[in-house]
Amino acid sequence: MSPIAPPRGTRDLLPAEAPAWRWFLETHAAVAGRHGYQLIDTPVFEATELFARGVGSGTDIVDKEMYTFVDRGGRSMTLRPEGTAPVLRAVLGAHLEQQRRPVRVYYAMAMFRYDRPQAGRQREFHQVGVEVIGERDPCYDAEVIEVAWRFMAELRIDGVELQLNSLGDSDDRLRYRAALVAYYTPLRESLCEDCQRRLDVNPLRLLDCKKDAKYNENAPLIGDHLSEASREYFDSVARHLDDAGIPYTRNQRLVRGLDYYAHTAFEFWHRSLQGAQNALGGGGRYDGLADELGFAATPGVGYALGIERLLTVAADQGVAPAPQPPAQLVICTTGGASAAEGRRLARELRNRTSVVADLTDRRLEKKLRDADRLGALLALLVGLDEGLVLRNLRTGVQQVVSADTVLDAVSAELLQAAQGPTA
Ligand code: AMP
Repeated sequence: MSPIAPPRGTRDLLPAEAPAWRWFLETHAAVAGRHGYQLIDTPVFEATELFARGVGSGTDIVDKEMYTFVDRGGRSMTLRPEGTAPVLRAVLGAHLEQQRRPVRVYYAMAMFRYDRPQAGRQREFHQVGVEVIGERDPCYDAEVIEVAWRFMAELRIDGVELQLNSLGDSDDRLRYRAALVAYYTPLRESLCEDCQRRLDVNPLRLLDCKKDAKYNENAPLIGDHLSEASREYFDSVARHLDDAGIPYTRNQRLVRGLDYYAHTAFEFWHRSLQGAQNALGGGGRYDGLADELGFAATPGVGYALGIERLLTVAADQGVAPAPQPPAQLVICTTGGASAAEGRRLARELRNRTSVVADLTDRRLEKKLRDADRLGALLALLVGLDEGLVLRNLRTGVQQVVSADTVLDAVSAELLQAAQGPTA
């Protein structure tokens, strides 16, 4: 029998990667928290309808990538492919927007999309994101961009490029859609199969196609179809970003081709990520989404960033924390009554650092070798004739300590190790 493999397109988080993962989530929570955002979480699966309506037909996610199943009660369920629709459902379902406006929330959640796995693309992946729900003002569009920007700066990730566009309002998009149809219809036979379908269902998505990129070069631009009010909205977002010192590139080909998106659309790109997978994340304004989900019309804006992709960049740039040993100190007992004493010392020392206790009957040399393999800095030998012996496993230097001085001696060793290598 062959051992069971993980499902294709999934990854395990192994302990060596845990410090980077925790650093990432804690930094995001801290940055979002400092901007007034509170944690929200939603179910891993939802009624399929939430995403069918909340992401929309004509998108790859809904048309090709959803993990949909019928549960034992005969209901169609889908594993969460994105966070905005479920978060909006949760906030409006709990009437949070009636208590205060806007509602600011952040999340860190697993997402599921049935896609061909490749570098930077998994079937289960993770995103952090924020949503500002209940107000429509350019300052909030700029605010969410600023939270993402400050977050990536705090991770010390270099070289992030902000791509910014306006999708206007629904009237603007109707005009733009007509211009796109007029431009692409004579080209129909030359377009790829997907794009021929997009031309009928969702012409804005034509601009996304990598295969037909050569036709997109001369396609009409949304900027030429924006009303005065939409132009002003975009300019105002841009002014807020200028004030915040956040540079951006206007990218008129950046589209989210759904009716309930409005005005701001943005992506964060990184030059080290190749091809179609160069986006670290993105977001935008979705003023028509609440209505689409059956709630009273409520504006909102937010972003989602891919954790795995950002961690890849962080690792490449050497800014992610290194793997950590499971414990800094190993208590090695030597038989007899030393196990009880070892246990007591372990409890006490855990107020200061991470401690494992080796209470087995094995020989001391074996225990020390294992403590070294564990990557611990210190071993405390308990039950020897000379008393408690604290050994620095990196330098090999030992000192005899007493029950009263052991905590201070351990603290001093940890401090010295933190300050630099002891040659
Ligand atoms: P989206 O919700 O499609 O705008 O995706 C936002 C971000 O999530 C992307 O820029 C990626 O960083 C990440 N992401 C999206 N899909 C995947 C995937 N299949 N595998 C890994 N990361 C993904």
